[in-house]
Amino acid sequence: MNIAVGGLFHETNTFVALRTELPQFQRCALLRGGDIVDRYRGTEGTWGGIIDRAEALGVRLSPALYAEAVPGGVVEHASFLQLAEELVASLDAGADGILLVLHGAMVTSEEQDAEGWLLRRCRERFGPDVPIVCTIDLHANVSPEMVTLSHCLVGYDTYPHTDYYPRAVEAVDILHGILLGDLSPTSSLYKPSAMPAVQSMLTDAPPMNTLIDLAHRIEKEPGVVNVTITGGFPYADVYWAGMGFIVTTNGDPAGAKRRARDIGRAFEAMERQFAVTLPSPDEGVVLAKASNVYPVVLVDSSDNVGGGSSGDGTDVLAAILRHGLKPSVVMLADPEAVLAAIEAGIGGLLSTKVGGKTDRLHGDSVAIRGTVARLSDGHYRSERTGEPKYMGLTAVVDCDGVYIVLTTERVPAFDLAAIESVGLHLKHMRYIAVKGAVQWKSSYGRIARASVEVDAAGVTSASFRRFRYARLRSGMFPIER
Ligand SMILES: [Zn+2]
Repeated sequence: MNIAVGGLFHETNTFVALRTELPQFQRCALLRGGDIVDRYRGTEGTWGGIIDRAEALGVRLSPALYAEAVPGGVVEHASFLQLAEELVASLDAGADGILLVLHGAMVTSEEQDAEGWLLRRCRERFGPDVPIVCTIDLHANVSPEMVTLSHCLVGYDTYPHTDYYPRAVEAVDILHGILLGDLSPTSSLYKPSAMPAVQSMLTDAPPMNTLIDLAHRIEKEPGVVNVTITGGFPYADVYWAGMGFIVTTNGDPAGAKRRARDIGRAFEAMERQFAVTLPSPDEGVVLAKASNVYPVVLVDSSDNVGGGSSGDGTDVLAAILRHGLKPSVVMLADPEAVLAAIEAGIGGLLSTKVGGKTDRLHGDSVAIRGTVARLSDGHYRSERTGEPKYMGLTAVVDCDGVYIVLTTERVPAFDLAAIESVGLHLKHMRYIAVKGAVQWKSSYGRIARASVEVDAAGVTSASFRRFRYARLRSGMFPIER
């Protein structure tokens, strides 16, 4: 048994000014053939699960191409075409089945539904019968075309995402079952007119856990292959943005449709619980200061790098400096300031303006004055998955107890190792500013004793009124209701 594997992974924030092009993929992951297996063997992410499970089942993997970029702006269509065409062309022509690692919310400058486009090209090359199974993110904006062109879409059941590995194992098992002739999957998608903020999608807390529990109950019913709930990615102005409920059964289209509609209606009945309102940065800092347990994580979910933002939002840093919160640590993507810190050298005095430079959507640049405490080449290893990560040249500036970590690349708040790798001990901090919405909980959540989430300026704000949408379906929650 021979499975062709590959993928194209990007969460696209259409409100980000900067386009995503080939170099952003090259800097994150652009791997071909056996390099994919070499890089991810023994890790605990999606690829680690695929590799381990295939080996355990005695299935041969034919790796094609895998490209991933840090969430960001619209993917330049020419870059997308180059990667997507190479991926499709390099999938083994003799494969019995295809397994693709996708996000599900990729948008190009010409294509709102990039994954739908990719699957269509796969079908053009391989025909309608070769089984195609895909892993997708919980934040996928699933289109009907994605569902009809694949045999099964297996989405994460967790947010923060902690089940990449078991979902990948599940996807391999489903594809294996199809190839053995045991499974004949048929899927149905229910799309409510709803696009909740990602802050409402924590899967181990209300209201989302109610839906996940329901999905797991349905998944245990005879004949049900998979139930996937996608919360959607609301920072994409595309027609199919928003939640989706996908049920895959073993050859029972009516049963898939009925169950997908049942979960969708369960959501609709509790929709209002998915509304989110947050305090301002100054209000949040006052709340953090009132805490008597530490560290307190100050969550800037409006500049959520994991959701595509610039990572140079300054509202929270400015509030921390204004209120004198220390010892504290703030990470900021600012290549220009990194170079200034390198010029000043370790122990040198740095007086410069940081952040707020990418666009006018993430606050004003903030004047800082401090000592360069540390410089780093920016390589670190995720303590969660063991995967190697890179944040570019990095400098730590000590502004009298406010430690500002300046990075060259934008760094999602996924791993404690990013900050710990530059010699700062997070447990010794009283206040930790985190640019993330929910995923930070899987790392920073393990050391946080308290957290305060604020609504600052930024392209991942929970206040959708900050954004101008033009392509959404009508009647969307919470914008129109
Ligand atoms: Zn996600």
